[in-house]
Amino acid sequence: MTGSQPLERYDVGIVGAGLAGLTAARELTDVGLDVVVLEARDRVGGRTLGTSLSTGDVIDRGAEWIGEEHEHVLELAEEFDLELCSQYHEGADRVAVGGELFEGEDRLRALPPEAAAELRDAFERIEALRREENPDTGRWDGKTLQTWVEETMGNQAAREAFEAYFRAMHAAEPSQVSLLYFLGDSDGGDDPSEDDGYSFAQEYQASNVGTEYRFIGSTQHLSQGLAEVLGDTVRMEEPVRRIERRDDGVTLVSDTGRYDVSDAIVAVSPPLIERIEHEPPLPARRRALGQRMPMGGVVKCVVAYDEPFWRDDGYSGVVLSADGVVTSFNDVSPPDGNRGLLVGFIAGDDAFEWSDRSVTERREQVLEELRRYFGPQASEPLEYTDKAWSRTRWSTGGYNAVMTPGTLAACGDALREPVGRVRWAGSETAIEWPGFMEGAIRSGKRVANEVLSDRGERES
Ligand SMILES: Cc1cc2nc3c(=O)[nH]c(=O)nc-3n(C[C@H](O)[C@H](O)[C@H](O)COP(=O)(O)OP(=O)(O)OC[C@H]3O[C@@H](n4cnc5c(N)ncnc54)[C@H](O)[C@@H]3O)c2cc1C
Repeated sequence: MTGSQPLERYDVGIVGAGLAGLTAARELTDVGLDVVVLEARDRVGGRTLGTSLSTGDVIDRGAEWIGEEHEHVLELAEEFDLELCSQYHEGADRVAVGGELFEGEDRLRALPPEAAAELRDAFERIEALRREENPDTGRWDGKTLQTWVEETMGNQAAREAFEAYFRAMHAAEPSQVSLLYFLGDSDGGDDPSEDDGYSFAQEYQASNVGTEYRFIGSTQHLSQGLAEVLGDTVRMEEPVRRIERRDDGVTLVSDTGRYDVSDAIVAVSPPLIERIEHEPPLPARRRALGQRMPMGGVVKCVVAYDEPFWRDDGYSGVVLSADGVVTSFNDVSPPDGNRGLLVGFIAGDDAFEWSDRSVTERREQVLEELRRYFGPQASEPLEYTDKAWSRTRWSTGGYNAVMTPGTLAACGDALREPVGRVRWAGSETAIEWPGFMEGAIRSGKRVANEVLSDRGERES
């Protein structure tokens, strides 16, 4: 693997052709630098992936929704002529907690009044913590979100709804992350000091806040568009196995090539960085960070029907569930309503167990849960398909990597700190919208600017 491969030279070498890596590549090639992007898979887009059903409908197996504040995603969509549609949201939402099924105008009002009041209260407390002028960061980082929920929420239904919501939003367990990480990660691009009307409660309540749009097509088209612009710069099926750092540059070693570059950008999720051999070994804090940031777990399930029959019964297709294996369902039917498409997420710990079961078992389970929510018609889909992200070689999970308790305090700074001439991008490193496609693009822009200013300083 080392020594015998042909050597090529570039200004910048980028590991990973997801949105972050491709964005960085584009910024750098635009100013005339010679760049190579090395991608392990035989496709670009990483955690975005579009495929077609036998019905001809294009579905997203990975990232799907775009918020109206995701300005960089929307810019790219315009550049590549990608058509958006609004997320359908009419009719009643359903919430399944404690073995009971509730419905209402939204996911908050669906709950019994006592539970809804307690949940609203919890969201207000979260907002207050986020706006705290003297945050007790040490204590908050040592406490899991689960502990906070148990200490502050007495109503069982409210607690279950909160936990299910966290699972649906993060594909992780509230017992896995620290309160501090949750407070920081859940604020998206929002500046807590500005009262812009956005609130955590609002996001819970109206399931389409922050997820206003989808593409007619797939979010993978964003990466495919970028790759087309970049042409030969992007090399597929070139997993980077080893990164050698020197004072004056970096060598990236794949199975088939060696690339001597002045600067390197690693645009893969934090746990995958540890799977690359680093010579010399990475600093201890950087390594600890990778080890303490596991990927979430998710199986994304798509069920196709002749038509969105639940709409006729007055349902939006939105379900939040603490009871079943599937944490949430949403209606992703094409805008003309000529087909009915429901997407469901098995998220958090359940995803690990169900990823290792057969697709037939998953199908049975998902259909059984859909029958509970939408009646016997749910039993007869045209097609069922799913993707277990935890079983993928080059993502190892999804939606994103999360921080376990104590990590932010001990090694959070290492997330974006360069190591020699190696810099880090990827949606988890984003300052705004971490964990979203928007964050991935922003991280690519940030890291490209860092490389440019570093090169500028070296040359001056
Ligand atoms: C099921 C699911 C649903 C989601 N839903 C949404 C959503 O609705 N909206 C939203 O905004 N976000 C969503 N996300 C999150 C979003 O997809 C990611 O945050 C974002 O796409 C990450 O982009 P990235 O470029 O940082 O990383 P990635 O997309 O993971 O790209 C990293 C790339 O690096 C490659 N790679 C890994 N190791 C190596 C190596 N050693 N050598 C070379 N290449 C390597 C990988 O193959 C991959 O192509 C979802 C994610 C999942 C999985």
